Amino acid sequence: MQTIRGTKDILPDEINQWQQLYFEALELLTLHNYSEIRTPIIEPTELFIKGVGNDTDIINKEMYNFVDQGKRNITLRPEGTACIARACISNKLYVNNITQKLWYMGPMFRYERPQSGRQRQFHQLGIEHIGSEHPFTDVEIINLTHNLLQKLQCPAYTVEINSIGTQEERKKYKIALVNYLDKFKTELDLDSQRRLTTNPLRILDSKNIKTQLVLQNAPDINQYLGTASIKHFNTVCEYLNILDIPYTINNKLVRGLDYYSHTAFEIINDQLGTKNTICGGGRYSNLIKQLGGPNIPGVGCAIGIERLLMLIKNTSKRKENKNRFYLITQGYEADKKAWNLIKLLQQEKIKFNIDFNQDSFQKNIKKAIKNNALGCLIIGPDEIKNSTITIKWLEKNYQETISYNNIIKYLKQNINQSN
Ligand code: ATP
Ligand code: MG
Repeated sequence: MQTIRGTKDILPDEINQWQQLYFEALELLTLHNYSEIRTPIIEPTELFIKGVGNDTDIINKEMYNFVDQGKRNITLRPEGTACIARACISNKLYVNNITQKLWYMGPMFRYERPQSGRQRQFHQLGIEHIGSEHPFTDVEIINLTHNLLQKLQCPAYTVEINSIGTQEERKKYKIALVNYLDKFKTELDLDSQRRLTTNPLRILDSKNIKTQLVLQNAPDINQYLGTASIKHFNTVCEYLNILDIPYTINNKLVRGLDYYSHTAFEIINDQLGTKNTICGGGRYSNLIKQLGGPNIPGVGCAIGIERLLMLIKNTSKRKENKNRFYLITQGYEADKKAWNLIKLLQQEKIKFNIDFNQDSFQKNIKKAIKNNALGCLIIGPDEIKNSTITIKWLEKNYQETISYNNIIKYLKQNINQSN
């Protein structure tokens, strides 16, 4: 049996990094008063059709849709923001507090061509600040992402940022963009040709090289922004300067969805080749309203975890806690006594490993070494007879037999010494 194409097992020797990422995020985001939220992986298909928007890659080609036994149209979530917006509405989270600071981490599903950094089941860590128009919140999201990447020792990256203004401003820009692109229609890829009428902003996102060339001389959206939008954007940049977060302005960067407004940003690393975007985010004004909720704005982002882990693989310095003991018992009475020893170790939060494989004493010692244990706790017939326990310290290759009643005191003293 194989995994489904584009999906991967995350094996025990990789899970350390995932756990570290989760706990670093938990610590950082809790400090900033963000709460974790977990929403279902399956949602009504309609949520994404309304929430992700017309003629996007996700809606056109990438959704995992199915009809369930009750004839409901269901989708495996391709992204998190629409789900969070849905959760705010379904649970009326805004009633007690209009501001919701939320984060999530979990699997997303997109039917794409699998390659390095691109899977069909992948994971995102997303941060959303719902309830404020203030540019402070745009920068809070960027700052939190930046801080998390720093904590994880992510190698050099750039924040690319742009303003896509308001819906009215984009309407004017779209006309100018289509006017320009129409002249080069035949040079555009087929998706982009179609999007000239359905969703022209999305063309700016095309990965097709010929289309990219045509786009080089296309008009920029910043020429179409009004005073309020410019002020919002300038304030965002000013805050980024205060925080010393390096960024570049990319006037061709859009998140071509109708509900986005003002700030759009991506975090990019050059080491990842064409799959170089680690994080995408932006401000959304109409999403919650569009999904049937009140008119509440928000801003958020999503980090692609697989891509991030590819980058930090070599820099991750998390040390495995070596304070682990390997329990070795010999004989029926010793096996029974192991239950008591396990209880004591658990109470004292001392890590241990035991495996009942009937191996010889020597083989067990070898396993303990392979297991990276600090020492072995040995109970055999002699130890049972004398109510003792033998501790074999593996690194020092030294062993001692002590009274069983003193085991915890002894271990605690010696663990501290060896630290
Ligand atoms: P791309 O342009 O690479 O397809 P996207 O614009 O579709 O990315 P977003 O929807 O902005 O991506 O998702 C945020 C992040 O999630 C991306 O920057 C990327 O790191 C990650 N991501 C998106 N799709 C995948 C995938 N299929 N496999 C792995 N990571 C992904
Ligand atoms: Mg994509």
